[in-house]
Amino acid sequence: MSKQKIKRLLIGTNNKGKLREIKNLLPKNIKIYSTSAFNLKSPVENGKTFKENSLLKSKYFSKKTGFICLADDSGLEIDFLGMKPGIYSARWGGKHGDFNKAIRRVYRELDKKDKNWKTKKIKARFVCALSISYLNKKIACVIGKVEGRISDKPKGKNGFGYDPIFIPLKKRKTFGEIKPSQKYKIDHRQQAFKKIRRFL
Ligand code: IMP
Repeated sequence: MSKQKIKRLLIGTNNKGKLREIKNLLPKNIKIYSTSAFNLKSPVENGKTFKENSLLKSKYFSKKTGFICLADDSGLEIDFLGMKPGIYSARWGGKHGDFNKAIRRVYRELDKKDKNWKTKKIKARFVCALSISYLNKKIACVIGKVEGRISDKPKGKNGFGYDPIFIPLKKRKTFGEIKPSQKYKIDHRQQAFKKIRRFL
């Protein structure tokens, strides 16, 4: 499997935004298939790490379809909160994936920890695990990260999720303020794709 180039690849996500973003990052000679064509539900993400959850998805979708599958798992780690929300990043948004709710929870938890947290540098990072599996076998699994800090208030309307509260290292603006084209150059997904490219 390792020397043979992959020609067909299933992207293991039911999230249309993610599918589009991942498509743009993949070599153009690979034919991409999406899970929507197979009408499959997503598996329960009960892994303990980003890598475990990513592998759980790529193996599940591969076994269901017989295709080689690429899947991801990502989220925000805040050091001051013991690396939370971490793998629970999406779940902090509740059933309806309300990102404002998730951001309010971050600020609530920081307040609970220390009322003066705004005087401190709150280190954080976005993490993305990408994996490729064929049936129950792992072909590759990599991690990409972008380091930064939490802004003392949400800023900007670009992006999604926790973008308005994350300021990447050596920058003054949040991912919510930075142009998407700039964000994609440095973000965790891009870092992970750079590492997984040699397996494709
Ligand atoms: P997943 O779909 O299980 O990988 O969940 C990822 C969650 O992490 C998303 O719902 C967002 O809340 C958060 N997240 C991941 N990547 C980003 C990003 O680039 N910007 C903002 N939030 C992100």
